[in-house]
Amino acid sequence: MNALASETADELRIAGLTRFSGADWPDHLAATVFLQGCPWDCVYCHNPDLIDPHSTGTIAWREVLAFLDERRTQLDGVVFSGGEPTMQTALVPAIDEARRLGIRVGLHTGGAFPSRLDSVLPQLDWVGLDIKASAADYATVTQRRCSGIHAWRSLRLLLDAARARAGSERPLEYEVRTTVHPTLTDASRLRLLGEQLLAEGVQWWALQCARAIGTRPEFPHASGGEAATTKLVEMIAAEFDGAFANVVTR
Ligand code: SF4
Repeated sequence: MNALASETADELRIAGLTRFSGADWPDHLAATVFLQGCPWDCVYCHNPDLIDPHSTGTIAWREVLAFLDERRTQLDGVVFSGGEPTMQTALVPAIDEARRLGIRVGLHTGGAFPSRLDSVLPQLDWVGLDIKASAADYATVTQRRCSGIHAWRSLRLLLDAARARAGSERPLEYEVRTTVHPTLTDASRLRLLGEQLLAEGVQWWALQCARAIGTRPEFPHASGGEAATTKLVEMIAAEFDGAFANVVTR
């Protein structure tokens, strides 16, 4: 059991479970556990119901664990997502319990809690880390001051861990993801972000188009809509093709 855990896994507040997902961990069939609570308030959040950290869960961790145990031969792993999964200290023992089943563990995070991320990195097999903008532009997206400091610290912790485990029997794989919306960024800012990620040593960058589905009514609809977003994303991906080991768009 990790010493930093202050809650038991049974206290995990779980907003939902997707039992079989091919979309949450590249090239893996995973169960995805959505955890309640997030300290940020991103303009394009498509899971706003998961932001409230005080909401109770809808499914018990024991039920999730029993499902993972029953289907572990059919699943490639489990992904903890959110919300911001590292907001809950109960994440730490829950990951330990999942690993004791012999199941691989992935994490979606925005990096809002670098210390907790650091404490679980040794237990993880894959991380999808959102880097939403250059550090100075973060509050434009998250509507929270200093959020960029935490996210970029998390990035450095992740990259250090991935470098340390490269070539080992249990490498730590990752993907850095940036969601793009034309009212929050533009080509020059995305180019700067791409250069900053390269300077940190990022090898895998996914550029994701913000979609209106699931967002709140105040979600800004840029002129040109999703077609304009797609065009911007594809242009930036083409410019960085070959600079990163892998650049994907979705
Ligand atoms: S970090 Fe994710 S869950 Fe939290 S507000 Fe932003 S998009 Fe929503």
